[in-house]
Amino acid sequence: MNILVKMEKIKVGILGATGMVGQRFIDLLQDHPWFQITELAASEKSANKTYEETMRGRWKINAKIPENVKDIKVKGCKPDLDCKLVFSALDSSIAGSIEEDFAKNGYIVLSNSKNHRLDDDVPLLIPEVNQDHLSIIKKQKAKFGKGFIVTNPNCSVIGLVIALKPLHDIFGLKKVFVTTMQALSGAGYPGVASLDILDNVIPYINGEEEKIETESLKLLGEIKNDKFSFANIKISAQCNRVNVKDGHLEAVNVRLARKASLDEVKRAFKNFNPLKKLDLPSLPTYPIIVNEEVDRPQPKYDCDLGNGMSISVGRIRRCNILDYKFLVLSHNTIRGAAGAAILNAELMKVKGYLD
Ligand code: NAP
Repeated sequence: MNILVKMEKIKVGILGATGMVGQRFIDLLQDHPWFQITELAASEKSANKTYEETMRGRWKINAKIPENVKDIKVKGCKPDLDCKLVFSALDSSIAGSIEEDFAKNGYIVLSNSKNHRLDDDVPLLIPEVNQDHLSIIKKQKAKFGKGFIVTNPNCSVIGLVIALKPLHDIFGLKKVFVTTMQALSGAGYPGVASLDILDNVIPYINGEEEKIETESLKLLGEIKNDKFSFANIKISAQCNRVNVKDGHLEAVNVRLARKASLDEVKRAFKNFNPLKKLDLPSLPTYPIIVNEEVDRPQPKYDCDLGNGMSISVGRIRRCNILDYKFLVLSHNTIRGAAGAAILNAELMKVKGYLD
């Protein structure tokens, strides 16, 4: 007899479901083959209404609210939700303690917020970069029991570190200068006032430079004897908010530990595909797409590549001060946030962390 075994989907909730990143989660998870949205949560002001009602005038992405989500009643962020795993897109002012509450109550928490990224028992994960860091989860057992927290990095860090990883693995990295041009959706909604950003660039984003200079080193570092050992690279960042809706562009200069030709550097980017054998629904065919045109990548044309999960690297050339310079572009609310957390969950599923 031919019996078709249908895999039961894992029930997931979204904390902060009403925000910029929360909306992306809803869009990306609507037809997910492994995960099913069963719960949506936000602040008390959004709770006790259906998602469609509470989002009137607030839904800001180029897609409709999915039919199977519209009628879900939004709840407050209490750990009594009917799901196994929660994706957190909570404002960082309240994310830390809410996420801990969920973990203490047995939930698996995949967080976008900064609060636990640097904890010494929490993985800060990019699947293509440091999947071995998942092993640190066992250290959370004493405080949380069954539940645990896994984080994804800041939206500028993800694109940057995916580009740096092949260079670090092959040539070694000594120094990195990075100047970011970050999109408005990265500031949440309503974000930066229109009168502040029209015809303007704001050369300051609170806390962003520090995040780039520390999170990158955790990601590119190693685990030794159940402890994180941060990478020994000097990173200096300057962050700017620009008048672009989606897509963080970053100008990067690197000093390598050993000499490399321009061709070798380009090949390192092009050949980087460490997870290609894993069948993960959100994994792009290529994590890095090298664009050889002189004036690309550009946020307007390139940030949706690979369904927003590929990063673009372009203008790769020699640097007169360090060794090489190039541009990196990534979609900040997809690869830099919701898509990143979903890819983390997919990797964790195939590695047995969601059993
Ligand atoms: P956002 O648009 O301001 O959304 C914040 C969310 O948090 C909303 O759902 C809001 O619910 C909820 N919230 C606020 N106060 C709350 C409370 N007291 N209790 C429960 N829920 C509360 O922000 P965002 O841009 O989506 O960012 C969400 C998180 O992801 C932040 O930690 C951010 O740093 C991080 N992140 C953002 C990006 C990006 O590109 N935007 C990228 C990476 C990481 P209400 O609508 O009910 O107020």
